[in-house]
Amino acid sequence: MLISRTPTFKLAALEGEQFDIVVIGGGIIGAGIARDSALRGLRVALFEKRDFGSGTTAGSTRLIHGGLRYLEMLDFSLVRMDLRERETLLRIAPHLVKPLEFIMPFYHSSLFYRCKMKIGMTLYDLLSYDKSLPRHRFLAPGEIKKIEPNLQQQGLQGAAVYFDAQAASPERLCLENIIDAYEHGAQTFNYTEVTEALRSSEAIDGVRVRDLLSDDGAEVSVKSRVVINASGAWFDHVAGGLTNRSSAATLAHAQIRTTKGVHITCPPITNRAVVVFSPVDGRLMFVIPWLGYSLNGTTDTDFTDDPATAHATSEDVDYMLRSVTEYFPTLDTARIYFSNAGVRALVKEEGSASSVSRRHRIEDGARSGPKNLISVLGGKITGYRAIAEEVVDAVCAKLDVNVPCSTSSNPLPGARRGIKPSDASGAGLKNETIAHLVNLYGSRAGEVLQLTASCERLREALSLYAPDVAAQVVFAARTEQCARLVDFLLRRTLLGFSQDQGLNAATRAASLLAQELGWSAARTSAELSLYQDHIAMTQAFRHGVSDLPPTCLPPDGPG
Ligand SMILES: Cc1cc2nc3c(=O)[nH]c(=O)nc-3n(C[C@H](O)[C@H](O)[C@H](O)COP(=O)(O)OP(=O)(O)OC[C@H]3O[C@@H](n4cnc5c(N)ncnc54)[C@H](O)[C@@H]3O)c2cc1C
Repeated sequence: MLISRTPTFKLAALEGEQFDIVVIGGGIIGAGIARDSALRGLRVALFEKRDFGSGTTAGSTRLIHGGLRYLEMLDFSLVRMDLRERETLLRIAPHLVKPLEFIMPFYHSSLFYRCKMKIGMTLYDLLSYDKSLPRHRFLAPGEIKKIEPNLQQQGLQGAAVYFDAQAASPERLCLENIIDAYEHGAQTFNYTEVTEALRSSEAIDGVRVRDLLSDDGAEVSVKSRVVINASGAWFDHVAGGLTNRSSAATLAHAQIRTTKGVHITCPPITNRAVVVFSPVDGRLMFVIPWLGYSLNGTTDTDFTDDPATAHATSEDVDYMLRSVTEYFPTLDTARIYFSNAGVRALVKEEGSASSVSRRHRIEDGARSGPKNLISVLGGKITGYRAIAEEVVDAVCAKLDVNVPCSTSSNPLPGARRGIKPSDASGAGLKNETIAHLVNLYGSRAGEVLQLTASCERLREALSLYAPDVAAQVVFAARTEQCARLVDFLLRRTLLGFSQDQGLNAATRAASLLAQELGWSAARTSAELSLYQDHIAMTQAFRHGVSDLPPTCLPPDGPG
């Protein structure tokens, strides 16, 4: 075949295998750790309970930013780290992370407020002294009206304009870390749950892992010199399992605070990202251009249920509308397409949810728990690479390995080379489709184009609402560890965010996946109904439904 298939990782083959590092959790942070360790030549296995990037990584606001808000909290080192990482990501993943212009309008006329804005913007520029993005500037009300006509003009005094960046698909950013990891020798598994630790006296020597897609939930024991808990919002639950704590003891030892944030999408109301302050409680909110919509977010409320069940309720949406319509009066519930929600894992602190620091913490079990266990608490997508570097440095120190980190200078797989016009010749696709593929896969689009060039059937469109083609399903199944229909629609492509949320593409994609992955008719229909459950979750705010099934849970077996 033209494209190179992902090595087929077999969980059963790991029984008794010895790794240097086992990573629990395939969100952006776990994926970054797996990539960094593999690039340093360590033997690494990563286990993800659902799909890569399907946890909080998929529920984020999708910004790669220093965070002006954290300046207000005087957290300069966090802002500096994230601004430096923003620049790194623009360099190593330019197809996934793109500059985004922001405007922050102000309605106060006081000199104090204007000075505060000027100082904040100047500091933000100073902390990103090595950036490639333009510096801030200020606009007068007349200029703002021209560029953002939908913004409330009454009382408008001016606006600050500055740049940050956006990852339209942090899910794919996560996946490209996984791909780079396995291309450098890591073994990466989705739909595998770490259930407990293998222990010898005070140390953890490995983990028990359950295969969630096998008929019988087969389990294996995998040995490792170091185990990393990078399970994000599930951290305390996983830590409890690794240390054999009861639920009550797990709760008493909780190290993270979990808070929910929701987003709503509506027709585009701005031309650039706009920062506003909620009239309800003064919190900072974003209205961001994303895939042709406006993405509005977010809330910040304590959430202690299973993070997989988080969704926007009618109360969340009501709060969002009250916060945003003050500035964009045309927005109403009828104009919301869908919602999504994520659960933050914040290093535990008292106080209001919004005031809790977004800093990460890395804990070495040698000091505070079982030996050989390293815990990653908190952190943002923006800083994931630096957090991973810090974790792998700690692992290397433990294992007496002296190889420096190289993830900031090595581009991610889709940015390794440019795409040449000859890659597209003979692919039989419209220019618009080719541009879409390059936007999604970077230079890896060349492999999809080879597939479409080889077979006319693979050029067929999957949906009336998006330019995606059948070859992408084959590509996802063969090279991107796509195991389920939800993986394809939400995390290998952006189809699930198209106008009909991917419904038009779902049946065709499911039947192509069935051919590639050998699904029975029963399994194929289970995959379709699981996708319907996901859609219901994103629409739950319309009915106030609160007891929906969690998205992405596997059916009883492959059928
Ligand atoms: C509303 C909201 C908005 C945000 N906006 C931004 C933003 O704009 N920019 C930014 O930089 N950051 C943002 N963040 C923060 C960012 O999304 C998170 O910090 C980041 O995604 C965390 O990644 P992670 O890998 O730690 O967690 P996750 O992505 O949740 O990954 C953890 C993984 O562990 C897996 N797991 C759990 N238990 C097990 C087990 N037993 N075995 C195996 N696997 C297991 C889970 O399935 C999950 O996939 C936002 C967060 C929220 C909630």
